[in-house]
Amino acid sequence: MLELRPEVFAEQLLARAHSRVMVLGGDQGVRPRASDPEFDSLADFFADDPRDFRGHEAVFLGVGPESRALFGVFIHQTHRGQAQGGVRFWPYNDLEQFLRDGLRLAVGMGRKCALADLWWAGGKAIIAAPGETPGSSPGNPAARECIFREFAAFVTSLRGVYITAQDAGTTPDDMEVIFRHTRFATCIPERVGGSGNPSAMTAKGVIRAMEAALDFCGMGGLEGKQIAMQGAGNVGSHMIEGLFERGAARVVVAELGKAQCSHLVSRFPAHFLEMRQVDRGDREILAEPADILCPNALGGVLDAKTIESINAPIVCGAANNMLVDERRDARQLLARGITYVPDYLANRMGIVACSNEQGGNLADDAFILRHLEGESGWDNSIYNVTQRILRRAAQAGISTTEAAEELAEERAGVPHPVWGRRTREIILSLWEGGWARG
Ligand code: NAD
Repeated sequence: MLELRPEVFAEQLLARAHSRVMVLGGDQGVRPRASDPEFDSLADFFADDPRDFRGHEAVFLGVGPESRALFGVFIHQTHRGQAQGGVRFWPYNDLEQFLRDGLRLAVGMGRKCALADLWWAGGKAIIAAPGETPGSSPGNPAARECIFREFAAFVTSLRGVYITAQDAGTTPDDMEVIFRHTRFATCIPERVGGSGNPSAMTAKGVIRAMEAALDFCGMGGLEGKQIAMQGAGNVGSHMIEGLFERGAARVVVAELGKAQCSHLVSRFPAHFLEMRQVDRGDREILAEPADILCPNALGGVLDAKTIESINAPIVCGAANNMLVDERRDARQLLARGITYVPDYLANRMGIVACSNEQGGNLADDAFILRHLEGESGWDNSIYNVTQRILRRAAQAGISTTEAAEELAEERAGVPHPVWGRRTREIILSLWEGGWARG
C-alpha cells in the first residue's frame, strides 16, 4: 500500500463504501490502530517507525468526492490545545512519502508552538492532487476551488481537532476558499479579516535567530557577514531586505525562478546580492563559503552527503524539516562543529503572526512583536530561546535538536489552561462515533 501513488490510493478509497481512514494513536504502550482492519498495515507502518512517528494522536485520511484529491490531517500531541499547522498542496511520488511528510511536519508544528509558548498543538494537513503541479501554476481555477472547498469540508468533519492555515503550494486565494467553507482556518487574507501573509514576520524571526547564533559563536552581529541562501520566495526575499538593512556584506542566493531572480537583482546592489538561477537538483549553494547557510526553500536538503559539504559555521533558515533524518543529521552537524538552529525555533513567526487572528488583529501587536525582542527583552523571544538551546546543547554535549526537543517536550505536555484535554476527547469521540464511516 505504501508504494502506491497517492492518486491510486485515493481511487481505492473512493471505490469503497467509506472513503475515510483514521489511525488512532497517542495511548502510552498501545500500538496505533486503524479504523478498518484493511488498513492495519498503515497502523503497523506508524508503530514500527520511531523516526517519523512520535506518539501521534491521530491521522485522518480522506478523498474529495468530486476533486478525487487525497487529504491527510496529521495530529501530533494535543495537550496544549487544538492542533494547528498549514495545509501543504504538493505532489508526492508515493503514499509513504505523503505520510512521512505529514507526520514530520506535525511534530515540527507541535514543537514550534510549544517553544513559542502558544496554546496550540502540532498538526499539519497535506493535499496530494492528481494532475496538478503545485507551486508552479494555479492549474484550472474551478478544479482548484473544488479541491479546497472539499478540503474545508474534510476539516469541518474533524470538529475542531485541527485548525488549518497556509503552507507550501497554497495561496491566499485558496485560504479564502477554505475559510468560506470552514471556520477552522487561520492565516486568511486581510481582505476577509485575517492577518494576511506572515512571510515578512517569518523572515524577521529567522534574522533574530541568526543574530542569536552569531553572538553565541562569538562572531559579533550580522554586519559584514556573508550569507548563502537556498530559495528566495516569500520568506527569502524579505530576508534579503532585512540582511541588507542590518549591514550584511553579501548574500549569494540559489533560486529556481527566473523572474524572481531578475526581480531581486533589480532591487539590490550587485556587490551585495548575487542571484544564481539553478535547477531543482542543484545543491551547490549548500557548499558555498559563508558565515551562515540559510535554507529557505523546501525541507529534506541536509543529509550525510550535503552536511559534509557545508562551508559555513552556522546553519539557520526558514525551511521546515531541513534535516532528512533529524537525530542522525543533527549529530553529524555537531561532529563537524557547525551550529545548527533548529528550523522550528527560527521560523516560528509564521504561526505566531496568524495563530491567534480569531482574537482580532492589532497593528504592531505587542503580543506578537515580543517574539522578535533581543537579549534584554522577553525571556521567550526567538533570540533568547535560541541562545538557551545552543547553550544547553553545548553544556550537555548533545545536538541542538536534542536540546530543543527536550525543552519542547517538557512544554508540549502541559495541558491547555482553559480546555484541558478537550482536543483529545474530540479525537476519541471521532473514533468511537465512527468518523471513518461518515
Ligand atoms: P515560497 O514557495 O514562497 O519560496 C520558496 C522558494 O524556493 C521559491 O522561490 C522556489 O522557487 C525556491 N526553491 C524551491 N526549491 C529550490 C531549490 N531546490 N533550489 C533553489 N530554490 C528553490 O515559500 P516561502 O513561503 O518563502 O517558504 C520557504 C520555506 O519556509 C518553506 O519550507 C516553508 O515551509 C517555510 N516556512 C515559511 C513560513 C512563511 O511564513 N511563509 C513560515 C514558516 C516556515
